[in-house]
Amino acid sequence: MATYDYDLFVIGGGSGGVRAGRLAGAMGKRVGLAEEYRMGGTCVIRGCVPKKLFVYASQFQEHFDAAAGYGWTVGETTFDWPTLIANKDREITRLEGLYRKGLDNSEVEIFESRAVLIDDHTIEILKTGKRVTADQILIAVGGHPSPHPSLPGNEFCISSNEAFHLDALPKAIVIEGGGYIAVEFANIFHGLGVDTTLVYRGKEILSRFDQDLRHMLHAAMAEKGIHIRCTEIITKVERQEGGRKLVHLSSGDQIIADQVMLAIGRVPNTKSLGLEAVGVDVDDLGAIKVDDYSRTSRENIWAVGDVTNRVQLTPVAIHEAMCFLETVFKNNPTKPDHELIATAVFSQPEIGTVGLTEQDAAQKFKGIDVYRAVFRPMRNTLSGSTEKMLIKLIVDAASRKVVGAHILGPDAGEMAQLLAIPMKAGCTKEDFDRTMAVHPTAAEELVTMYKPSYRIVDGERID
Ligand SMILES: Cc1cc2nc3c(=O)[nH]c(=O)nc-3n(C[C@H](O)[C@H](O)[C@H](O)COP(=O)(O)OP(=O)(O)OC[C@H]3O[C@@H](n4cnc5c(N)ncnc54)[C@H](O)[C@@H]3O)c2cc1C
Repeated sequence: MATYDYDLFVIGGGSGGVRAGRLAGAMGKRVGLAEEYRMGGTCVIRGCVPKKLFVYASQFQEHFDAAAGYGWTVGETTFDWPTLIANKDREITRLEGLYRKGLDNSEVEIFESRAVLIDDHTIEILKTGKRVTADQILIAVGGHPSPHPSLPGNEFCISSNEAFHLDALPKAIVIEGGGYIAVEFANIFHGLGVDTTLVYRGKEILSRFDQDLRHMLHAAMAEKGIHIRCTEIITKVERQEGGRKLVHLSSGDQIIADQVMLAIGRVPNTKSLGLEAVGVDVDDLGAIKVDDYSRTSRENIWAVGDVTNRVQLTPVAIHEAMCFLETVFKNNPTKPDHELIATAVFSQPEIGTVGLTEQDAAQKFKGIDVYRAVFRPMRNTLSGSTEKMLIKLIVDAASRKVVGAHILGPDAGEMAQLLAIPMKAGCTKEDFDRTMAVHPTAAEELVTMYKPSYRIVDGERID
């Protein structure tokens, strides 16, 4: 039998790679892991975590504004961008250390270098040129923001990566994109006082989300003062003297901004990874093709997380990594389960969603019942805010199972996490109905909407 340096070699120290490496090491496997940038990957270093810290920072102005209605007088407030960046960086460094420590404790050998495949069992550590061998190889290299190569002037634009390290807070920013990253950053910059324009080629922001959520969030963002320009694209970016950018739009309009951020999608990190030479197949977008168990076209090479372009979320990458371990090292073939993934958009107001949109459910089932409540959450009453909250449940009329839940409003992400449990368990609307409400909360609407707002039968709405 061939002997290898490692039982498992992991390329990429992000959400999926670190989890797989750490747990395999803890099982007593000999594990090597290469990371070319910083341990923790996109989520910890330039994704979920710093993004959420920015979201918190951007919410204070609304809290200050709301305070008067509750009797508080808030003195003059100022915001200091360098302080936020420095504190955020300190927290990220702390988390990075924890990830590294976890690997060390599991006796994973870490290579701080880019790694590429040489053959089915050989990996080259580019920094030193050293070649190592492994029985099993896991590719968990993630992706990067699309640089939009066809856009004239794209070299003057930033991506989410740079947004976390800007020297100064821009006075005005144009963000192109309509996905959750573009929408979240539009809210972040607006909340920090930046004149913000969101440009999106589609008819409505956040495609794939429930239409209700999309329209209501759009209206709420516009009400706050975010300029949203749908069915438009940026056609050219020019740099002016002094550094400001002149942004040309397809409508012929021009906007002057200090920063232009592109958030038009992410590209898998599969270039120059040695995949072709080894025979690991990729799709048209460059994502690694895998079977139901995350196995690539090579017997002993596996891929998890964003690089496979299944569902690009941290918990999904981690889940895929855990299933990989079950399959490969625990003799328990396990397919990742991509059904009913709860997700949040940390916009303001926030979105929390689980399961099918009304539109998808209406196509999938013969009949659906829609329970929908739009109301002003209690916290907005004394503050004087007119912002509304949406809570909506989609029920398959035949089985009575709750197949979709969509929330727009404070703490929607937290609610989506909890809702995912009964929905995963297959609870019916009647199970929701016989659950006692927690009063006074916004979430009590979830268990007190007794009558459907409308039904959809064979695609037709019945009020
Ligand atoms: C701005 C932003 C906000 C996000 N917010 C959320 C959120 O709120 N919730 C959520 O669930 N998800 C969020 N995500 C998505 C989440 O970050 C990713 O889904 C997750 O990080 C994917 O994990 P991964 O292990 O597949 O890859 P990554 O975490 O990207 O890790 C891949 C690692 O591989 C390294 N690497 C690449 N090539 C090589 C090589 N050849 N050799 C060595 N190392 C290499 C990279 O440096 C990187 O560290 C966000 C992403 C972004 C960009």
